[in-house]
Amino acid sequence: ARPVVAIVGRPNVGKSTIFNRIIGDKIAIVEDKPGVTRDRLYGRGEWLDKEFSIIDTGGIEIEGEDEILRSVRMQAELAIEEADVIVFMVDAKTGMTAADSEVAELLYRAKKPVVVAVNKVDNLQRVDDIYEFYSLGFGEIIGISGSHGTGIGDLLEAVTKHF
Ligand code: GDP
Ligand code: MG
Repeated sequence: ARPVVAIVGRPNVGKSTIFNRIIGDKIAIVEDKPGVTRDRLYGRGEWLDKEFSIIDTGGIEIEGEDEILRSVRMQAELAIEEADVIVFMVDAKTGMTAADSEVAELLYRAKKPVVVAVNKVDNLQRVDDIYEFYSLGFGEIIGISGSHGTGIGDLLEAVTKHF
């Protein structure tokens, strides 16, 4: 089986945007498990000679702050269970939030590699906004922009070196 990469993060950081850029035109399957309030999108990605499955864990309906925390918690648990490498996505535009810290707490317990992708680094002014996320305590941090498609090669390089 191909290695599994999961994208985790609170709503609106850009998970689906990056997921779509990574899978390109490779068909994604929506798995809708009966009785489970979460949908996952599975796709296939490749980088150089490496193929992998990728999950967008963010298909959860959100209502209110408590729901956000509950949903990101579920996503993180799902990723910890299923993934070989976890992409923890955060947002340079909004900076760090309580929900980000919440996800980080769960990911510390995962004995799996975590790569932090700081999305929305759309311009050079925002490059400095990456640094606050080092305080999350994960070693690898890559700045990307889903809008411009920049940094995605660097992200995939960091991810695929784990398998
Ligand atoms: P998700 O909820 O984490 O799956 O996030 P989405 O992929 O749905 O994106 C949330 C919003 O952020 C959308 O309006 C996107 O167009 C926007 N977005 C995604 N990537 C970027 C980016 O690199 N820069 C900016 N400025 N906006 C982005
Ligand atoms: Mg999404």
